[in-house]
Amino acid sequence: MRSVSIFGATGSIGESAFDLLMQSGGAESWQVRALTGGRNIARLAEMALALRAEIAVTAFPELERDLREALAGSGIECTAGPDAIVAAADRDADWTLSGIVGAAGLPPGLRVLERGGTLALANKETLVAAGRLVMGTAARTGARILPVDSEHSAIFQCLNGENIENVEAITITASGGAFRDWPLERLETATVEQASTHPNWAMGQRITIDSASMFNKSLEIIETKEFFGINPDRIKVLIHPESIIHAMVTHRDGGSIAHLGAPDMRHAIGYALHWPERAELPVPKLDLAAMGQLSFRAPDETRWPALRLAREVMAAGGAAGAVLNGAKEQALDDFLAGRIRFTDMARAVESALDDLTGQPGFATSPTDLATVLDWDQSARQAAAGWAARHGGR
Ligand code: NDP
Ligand code: MG
Repeated sequence: MRSVSIFGATGSIGESAFDLLMQSGGAESWQVRALTGGRNIARLAEMALALRAEIAVTAFPELERDLREALAGSGIECTAGPDAIVAAADRDADWTLSGIVGAAGLPPGLRVLERGGTLALANKETLVAAGRLVMGTAARTGARILPVDSEHSAIFQCLNGENIENVEAITITASGGAFRDWPLERLETATVEQASTHPNWAMGQRITIDSASMFNKSLEIIETKEFFGINPDRIKVLIHPESIIHAMVTHRDGGSIAHLGAPDMRHAIGYALHWPERAELPVPKLDLAAMGQLSFRAPDETRWPALRLAREVMAAGGAAGAVLNGAKEQALDDFLAGRIRFTDMARAVESALDDLTGQPGFATSPTDLATVLDWDQSARQAAAGWAARHGGR
């Protein structure tokens, strides 16, 4: 029986993974080692019982008692806190899904790689903040990373067996998010509620807002560079409102291979779960004749400064990815709390990058976790400083 762990089990990615495990035999077919969550204790306990997990972990120590009560008598171990999450990543699972949101996903994901495990990576922040450390660790220990972000799973499937040296371009698509068709001037007034609806995908609130601001695509461009090791000039973004083509690889001979599928994360998660086999998955099959047509347009960087910032971060290298990610997470917190406007998020991130570029060590890619987390903290402080100076307008 294969053993699996799910980090961020109670989130959108985690729920999709849970559904796949339950639909393919549940506890009878999978040995579930660790399930981790955050504040949703009731759901974490329910999942742990359904899958007969060895251990359930909440990220928040103050919720440990609730978790213990919910699992009393079940024989399932309970722990809490960020260190307990990392310790759970040390448990020997054949396959571990990283579905935590934000930089909190980095330490446990890295631990899986340090022990040479297989990491199915939805948490793109891991590669954006610490690409060199993460890829270097996997190379050193022989760990395997399987991309779960839909575009990167698509690229991985398009590239299957092809030599990256022959790749002319990788194109990742973007739906354009909630504000694709809004006039530019209206973006200043966008509310949290408006930014929290996605035209095609049902996802967690943070990535949904990142899709509206295009910071999600910004992170994904960097993720593409870090994971596939391709020159940034060869990474293209294409607005594709229907979200049916997820990515396309163009070879130097002019042939392009695209990956198509319904916008349902269970495909990418299930692909990684069964890789290198292909399994029957409970996802809608495409009916292109019924759809009639697919549409495309070029992205406008005036509307989405996040795309320009991704290019600048890739050119800068060093700690720029960790700074972009940390500043973006802080700016998103500030937008959610009503301290800054929607369009201020890019301003705060750009300001944090400006503040920290040129600081000692910035030009060097961090090669240990502590240094990545230091840059993450400095970036959050710089972005929060911008919000304190300019917020409340
Ligand atoms: P959600 O917000 O839906 O879920 C996040 C998960 O992380 C929950 O289990 C949450 O627990 C847990 N969590 C929250 N804070 C912490 C913390 N500080 N430490 C540990 N765990 C924590 O996010 P998504 O599922 O949407 O996204 C997860 C990751 O996958 C992100 O990196 C996202 O960018 C990426 N991704 C998501 C896609 C999607 O379709 N949703 C598509 C592609 C990539 P709780 O809810 O119990 O508080
Ligand atoms: Mg994606």
